[in-house]
Amino acid sequence: MAEIIDGKAFAEGLRNRVAQAAGAFSDKIGRKAGLAVVLVGEDPASQIYVRSKREKTVEAGMESFHHELPASTSQAELIALVERLNADDAVDGILVQVPLPDQIDEKVVTNTINPAKDVDGFTFINVGKLAAGEQGMVPCTPLGCLMLLKDRLGELSGLDAVVIGRSNIVGKPMAQLLLRESCTVTIAHSRTRNLPDVVRRADILVAAVGRPEMVKGDWLKPGATVIDVGMNRIPREDGKTRLVGDVEFATAAQVAGAITPVPGGVGPMTIAVLLRNCLVAAHARAGLPPPVDL
Ligand code: NDP
Repeated sequence: MAEIIDGKAFAEGLRNRVAQAAGAFSDKIGRKAGLAVVLVGEDPASQIYVRSKREKTVEAGMESFHHELPASTSQAELIALVERLNADDAVDGILVQVPLPDQIDEKVVTNTINPAKDVDGFTFINVGKLAAGEQGMVPCTPLGCLMLLKDRLGELSGLDAVVIGRSNIVGKPMAQLLLRESCTVTIAHSRTRNLPDVVRRADILVAAVGRPEMVKGDWLKPGATVIDVGMNRIPREDGKTRLVGDVEFATAAQVAGAITPVPGGVGPMTIAVLLRNCLVAAHARAGLPPPVDL
């Protein structure tokens, strides 16, 4: 039976370390590190994410700046707000929650964010830095996956890694991070042929697909480390829903060496890494060396 990788506990530990470092930062600089979160419209899932981000930011001893705009907001109005936040010295990190309403071009807004405050790592500057092997802001979910992998495996160099999914927010940056760790990386996607055979090569499998329980236990190499990014709601018998990953946990746990559960695996890492990125940004803006142990 596979070891269960407890992302919830790891994320709590990371948030505690961030809180300590955030305290030391405000003692030294005379102000708290600050994260601005911008929500446009009333998407219920986004409202829940944003509330949770605000709560965790405050718990970590950081300042939370909240901007809620109506769904009718124009692109120019949103860009004007981002520019104000870019110029605001109290703001170290800026996050514009997606999805945005149809009249707003996500790419244009994202790339208005000062790359030094781009705690999501989605600006083209930070995407390019990751691809070029330069220091920059790295997207939160894949960085969280990498932290769990390094915690479990230590050195990743030379391992075969398969990432299923090539989105800009998870699959591609995940593959870049694994390459940076000297893994031999394969990126699979919807056009990949013989996916089970591709997956069978993997010492490390990261599944970021959005298809409930697609990856089966008999696709895995025995002993593989499996990181399941998928968050899929499926109906339960009692009419409610339950959350499952992209990996069929019951069969995969029989074959894998270690596996993240859903929920309680990758999910809690995303906000913890967001806080970490914001504090790293705050240090860089203040001319301080990066906080250790984060
Ligand atoms: P996207 O929909 O943007 O990307 C999905 C990827 O999966 C695409 O590259 C697609 O290929 C590929 N894919 C789809 N079907 C198949 C298939 N049958 N075989 C192989 N590959 C396939 O999703 P995201 O990357 O945004 O998210 C992926 C999952 O991770 C979702 O469940 C999402 O909810 C979850 N997620 C969880 C987070 C967390 O905090 N835990 C954060 C972000 C996402 P193609 O490019 O060819 O279409």
